[in-house]
Amino acid sequence: RPIIEVRDLSKTYASGTHALSGVTLDIAGGEILALLGPNGAGKTTFISITCGLVTPTGGSVSVDGHDIVRDYRAARSLIGLVPQEITLEFFETVMNTVRFSRGLFGKAPDDAYLETVLRALALWDKRDAKLRELSGGMKRRVLIAKALAHGPRILFLDEPTAGVDVNLRREMWEVVRGLKKQGVTIILTTHYLEEAEEMADRVGIIDKGRLLLVRDKTELMHEFGQKI
Ligand code: ADP
Ligand code: ADP
Repeated sequence: RPIIEVRDLSKTYASGTHALSGVTLDIAGGEILALLGPNGAGKTTFISITCGLVTPTGGSVSVDGHDIVRDYRAARSLIGLVPQEITLEFFETVMNTVRFSRGLFGKAPDDAYLETVLRALALWDKRDAKLRELSGGMKRRVLIAKALAHGPRILFLDEPTAGVDVNLRREMWEVVRGLKKQGVTIILTTHYLEEAEEMADRVGIIDKGRLLLVRDKTELMHEFGQKI
């Protein structure tokens, strides 16, 4: 069965904004799904609900069989989230940062696992460096390492390349594709078609809170190609 099952999900904020309406979607284990849509489309709302940070108005999200509202702890432990804002303690070292993150989830220390995470992100040689000493690309990779520290099977990346230059965007694309090889299921948001095509196996187009279509990347390129 799919690792994530989203059924008829909707969210109306107290302000009256219908941020999501009737979104239904299955996400398979090991795939990379990109949610593509303009600002205000509902991408962050989708991620926030699926990670259990925001309660939906209607519908449900199940993560490996655990309902994200009723069975929050079990569902959340399977998920790593890289939020849009950079949230780092710049005077900490890389290793302490990931150890601390793991601890927040109540997981037993496991430096051997953290080593595999830091190696996968090309941060192992920097493990004793303070975050403020790192380049912008390395800081972004530390954010991903933090999100993976408790050993989740699913990683959410909210606009991973927002405000990032072209070189760093390409670096992020490589990093994400590398994580897929480790078996991590990845859901990311973007408003660049090019980025969705580069990174994802499947692309969902979201606008005004509605999931308009979900296609394999190759199908999408074919459809767009015919229209141009
Ligand atoms: P995206 O991530 O695609 O830019 P969001 O999910 O952030 O979209 O926003 C979807 C809609 O919901 C927008 O109209 C936004 O202004 C509104 N919205 C988002 N968060 C809140 C909130 N906490 N309270 C009220 N409205 C919100
Ligand atoms: P306080 O509330 O007293 O400022 P915190 O709860 O923020 O303390 O932090 C307690 C300890 O955890 C401190 O040693 C701090 O350096 C460390 N710490 C806090 N946040 C992080 C983080 N994101 N990564 C690594 N270490 C952290």
